[in-house]
Amino acid sequence: MTRPVPAIVILGNGSLATARGIQQLYPGAQIHGLAERVDGADRVYREFGTTLRELYQQDTPIIALCAAGIVIRTLAPLLLEKGAEPPVLAVAEDGSAVVPLLGGLGGVNVMAREIAAALDVSAAITTSGELRFGTCLLNPPSGYALGDLELGKRFVSDLLAGETVRIEGAAPWLAQAQLPENEQARLTVHVGHGERTPADHELLIYPRNVVVAVNAGVANVPKAVREALHQAKVALQSLACLLAADTEMASPTLREAALELGVPLRFASADGDLSELARNAVGQSVSLLGNDTIAIAIAEQPLDPSQIGRPRGRLAVIGLGPGAAELMVPAVKAELARANDVLGYETYVRMAGPFRADQVLHCTDNREEMQRARHAFELAAQGRSVVVVSSGDPGVFAMAAAVLEALHESTDANWHAVDLEILPGVSASLATAAQAGAPLGHDFCVMSLSDNLKPWSIIEKRLDLAAKADLALAFYNPISRSRPWQLGRALEIVAQHRLPQTPVVLGRDIGRPGQTLRVTTLGQLTPDQVDMRTMVLVGSSTTCAFPRSEGGEWVYTPRWYGSKP
Ligand code: SAH
Repeated sequence: MTRPVPAIVILGNGSLATARGIQQLYPGAQIHGLAERVDGADRVYREFGTTLRELYQQDTPIIALCAAGIVIRTLAPLLLEKGAEPPVLAVAEDGSAVVPLLGGLGGVNVMAREIAAALDVSAAITTSGELRFGTCLLNPPSGYALGDLELGKRFVSDLLAGETVRIEGAAPWLAQAQLPENEQARLTVHVGHGERTPADHELLIYPRNVVVAVNAGVANVPKAVREALHQAKVALQSLACLLAADTEMASPTLREAALELGVPLRFASADGDLSELARNAVGQSVSLLGNDTIAIAIAEQPLDPSQIGRPRGRLAVIGLGPGAAELMVPAVKAELARANDVLGYETYVRMAGPFRADQVLHCTDNREEMQRARHAFELAAQGRSVVVVSSGDPGVFAMAAAVLEALHESTDANWHAVDLEILPGVSASLATAAQAGAPLGHDFCVMSLSDNLKPWSIIEKRLDLAAKADLALAFYNPISRSRPWQLGRALEIVAQHRLPQTPVVLGRDIGRPGQTLRVTTLGQLTPDQVDMRTMVLVGSSTTCAFPRSEGGEWVYTPRWYGSKP
């Protein structure tokens, strides 16, 4: 069963060697290095505090190679909030000390021991139970769930006070622990999937060995699942996942039910009834209970849900923003982290990285949009998590429309069952406008000047009408080697309706290395000042410019029109 991949955070080149050593222990883990201080990190960050807090809130285990105090101070504001508590460790930059700080129930001590062993030092374990018994009773391995944390804490303190303990049921991971076992003990660790109210002095641990196969047509699925388990005297805590027929993949009812029950939702081909479905998907010898609408399968061993059937595939069309990592929305970052496959024009795929070794990149030529969209659906329909990348916003002259067109044209039910989501990004016109001030502060018109996919005559017509309507204009794809004369013609049309002193903003490679921003006027603008990496913003009759103290000019279009209110 997979554990979340930790992030290794370093502040200087001095810790790089230690970080690389730790990285070997965790396949896929990336080293996050401070910009301008670390050469050769997998990921670059600018702000230590923001980065650490973001990782923490995303429930990512953190291994920070710096003073424990820095980590404590940085995360302190988040500790009072309920929510994620991933393992957090501080490791001395030379690898001489490993200090587990947070996430006792998330396995921080296990990680501390692993790292310490690799660095040939001992971990600074301070958890009494862990020290005494060599394991944290309240943190059973994956595949098992603890019944109640508060009762558990009391149980462990009784144990620490010198009581003995007896184990009921199969707890293979406790075989190595140094527990003071005694057949007559009052304290009991009970492992089993039966529904049970804990007796006094009893610690309940549930194996996750139960699958419930369900039909989306059932009224109130979570309630029905709870009732069926209760009738069968099976503990809800032992539920490993919900299972349904793959024909019901798109059902929102099932998705919400799994969310409410806090378990994964998996799908399998439905050849027979639900019991058949459950038996085949679990693939162990199982005992079955249930009826036409719900079947309960109980396996002998804990189950790994990722091995049961397959998940609903996901396809996210994301916008990277103009380029700078700070301008990428957090939902997009999270989507990139969960992706199995990433598709897109090579430049953008590279901009979206770095990626882990297990993530598959499919780089294609910029012109193969429909083919790329269909490929994305083929992958997602297999149950994979697929990301299609665009720069800026995916809905602005980019992949989102192509993906929807491919879906619209398809009759493949598997494609329509994919969990499709479009995640927005900061479009080049907005990123450029923000740097110049607010040239798009009033009504404006967005156009692509490329006549690759539309006739030039319609571009001329729209330019004429938009300029006549006194809209500010944002031109994407203003010029290219294969379209050399079009921009000049476009500017002639605009000049028929606008004065030569109308402000124009040229943003080139905004948010990327070497970005430039220029403010000029319509009268002075010539096509040779523009290339395909440039955004052209042409003001309306009310757009004005004035000097800014740092040099250059602010450009804005007032909120009002006609006469100032
Ligand atoms: N989906 C993208 C636009 C793709 S069309 C978005 O929303 O931004 C490509 C055109 O966008 C380019 O020809 C250029 O005019 C503009 N563009 C894209 N990124 C840019 C950037 N970083 N700086 C300036 N212009 C950019």
